[in-house]
Amino acid sequence: MLRKELEISTYEDLLHHYPYRYFDRTQLMAIKDVNEQCEYAQVAGTLINIGEEGVGRKSRLVATLFDETGRIELLWFQGAQWMKKTLREGDQYIVFGKVSAFNGNYNIAHPEIEPWNTETSIPGKQPVYSTTEKLRLKGITNRSFAKLTQYLFEKIKPGDIPEVLPVDILRHYNLCSRYNALRWLHFPDTDEHEQVARFRMKWEELFISQLMIARLRLQHTAQRGWKFERVGEHFNEFFRLHLPFDLTGAQKRVLKEIRQDTGSGKQMNRLLQGDVGSGKTIVAVMSMLLALDNGFQACIMAPTEILAQQHYFSISELLADMGIGVRLLTGNVKGKVRKEILGELADGSLKIVVGTHALIEESVQFKNLGLAVIDEQHRFGVGQRARLWKKNEMPPHVLVMTATPIPRTLAMTLYGDLEVSVIDELPPGRKEIKTVTRKDAGRMKVMEFVRSEVDKGRQAYIVYPLIEESEKLDYESLMAGYEQVKIWFNENKYKIAMVHGRQESGERERNMQRFVKGEADVLVATTVIEVGVNVPNASVMLIESAERFGLSQMHQLRGRVGRGADQSYCILLTGNKTSEESYKRIQIMVSTTDGFKIAEQDLALRGPGDMYGTKQSGILKFKLADIVLDGPILEQTRQAALQLLTHDPRLDQPQHQSLKYMLSQQGRESHWGKIS
Ligand code: ADP
Ligand code: MG
Repeated sequence: MLRKELEISTYEDLLHHYPYRYFDRTQLMAIKDVNEQCEYAQVAGTLINIGEEGVGRKSRLVATLFDETGRIELLWFQGAQWMKKTLREGDQYIVFGKVSAFNGNYNIAHPEIEPWNTETSIPGKQPVYSTTEKLRLKGITNRSFAKLTQYLFEKIKPGDIPEVLPVDILRHYNLCSRYNALRWLHFPDTDEHEQVARFRMKWEELFISQLMIARLRLQHTAQRGWKFERVGEHFNEFFRLHLPFDLTGAQKRVLKEIRQDTGSGKQMNRLLQGDVGSGKTIVAVMSMLLALDNGFQACIMAPTEILAQQHYFSISELLADMGIGVRLLTGNVKGKVRKEILGELADGSLKIVVGTHALIEESVQFKNLGLAVIDEQHRFGVGQRARLWKKNEMPPHVLVMTATPIPRTLAMTLYGDLEVSVIDELPPGRKEIKTVTRKDAGRMKVMEFVRSEVDKGRQAYIVYPLIEESEKLDYESLMAGYEQVKIWFNENKYKIAMVHGRQESGERERNMQRFVKGEADVLVATTVIEVGVNVPNASVMLIESAERFGLSQMHQLRGRVGRGADQSYCILLTGNKTSEESYKRIQIMVSTTDGFKIAEQDLALRGPGDMYGTKQSGILKFKLADIVLDGPILEQTRQAALQLLTHDPRLDQPQHQSLKYMLSQQGRESHWGKIS
């Protein structure tokens, strides 16, 4: 039962089922001071008037407790018979529970009650544990947990909870022992002990995670890779003759980093982060040319058919004058053409291929793949990456590109096993997107504005929220919105397309294509359009019910416009009344277009839980630590993990055996891998 409900199956698990708060039972109140203001109260006095009221299923036990200052009623709706037998009129009791008011009198239902005399010590801080409804019905309450852990601590000795952290780390970072930490977390005798305990256990959680990441990284860096020794004719010719603009400083720096990696003889595992529109594609293309210069093939893989196509078109165009063949391989490429491409990849005559997941199918064999670029990586698991690697005797270099700006603390946790490059500079001459917020009441004007933009020949996105919990409702409002838009935009005059997740993928693709090709003026959509689509002629992004979107999500959406020469607009439409918090979030969007700033704020406001689809990954499942608030601890643990592994990379030293064991017990390595 415990195992099913809370994943508790051993004493060890029980010890790690931490209280989420404490009842302060250090104070005794005078009964006259008890009122609704105090949620919980602890009082002591004499028990009188024990009696039953009501009949049958509605019967309850009532009693009165009084001290020198007043009286209060105690109530039991369940177990009345048993309580009646255990309580004695005229005896002294100490009572703790939740206060409610009824008819102007205060009462405590189902109090914790124990005999009391002047020598009885006051309980102190009492842990409060989470349980589930099912457990509660079986009588396993918060109180049962407290009793169980208390009993456990009476039985065990310090030696029963062995230390896992090495002594020098304990000393250096001023950490208390594991035994004390656990004891004080459950039963803190002072506030200070509680804090010390909490710090220690957070430290341990983060340290273990950092150790895992650091080990993964060690494995990566130990991996030998192809050595790209030359910067040759392809790269140089492109740079001199075909590059359509000057590279930004950030692009140059990143290319240099990539050249260093690929020239080192080790396999590159690099994450390239750059805000939407920062120009990652050209970096990918030039890295691929570097591979070609050294006699290798290169591929670029995108998460969707449309993105693969877009990459294919823009890369073909960039390389058109250089006589380098580029081909597109997706699930839709079949029959003769597919056979041809597979043949050219196998014999090495095709140097650059752009594609989707189709690139990692078993049937796709490269002659000598030197570089794999993965765009918008969070949709690819490491399992898939690993399959790419198996295609040759040595794995290709891997460049992972993402437009999701990741705050440093999170990056350390999520991508700690990858080297990170950042393009932190937009190409010059971009027009800032004008972001405004409007209330629903102003919808008419907003629509008129959108129409006037479309009349100028531009295209517009209108995006609706779609969140799983309220999916049906959201879906209905999307449909209603679509109907409304069709009325607003005379259907005979304007073309409207719609894409959403419930469409069959072929249909979705066709609708998207209509917009991409300029055949549709307005695209009504859910966030399925979020990633990477490039329609330079689109200049308006209208976000409906903006208060329901995450900041990073809105930022991604906004990045869909402002890609052409025209002034672009992002309009955040909100309900007529919005909460203080929503208002704050919307204001952040209006005040900055800096993706990193927005991501930091988003992380602080929402926590990492649902930010990057990491919820399922298990990677952020810390019981106590919070990667936003505990940034300093995270930094400490990262340092400590790196240092430890420098001295003992395989954790062979005797003082690291319990750590090693613990890491092996986590059994999570597979999950960890999945992230990158
Ligand atoms: P993202 O990082 O979002 O993938 P892209 O690579 O699609 O961005 O680049 C966005 C646009 O900026 C493209 O039209 C590209 O040609 C242009 N661009 C990229 N780098 C530069 C630069 N250094 N100077 C001017 N324009 C650039
Ligand atoms: Mg891109």
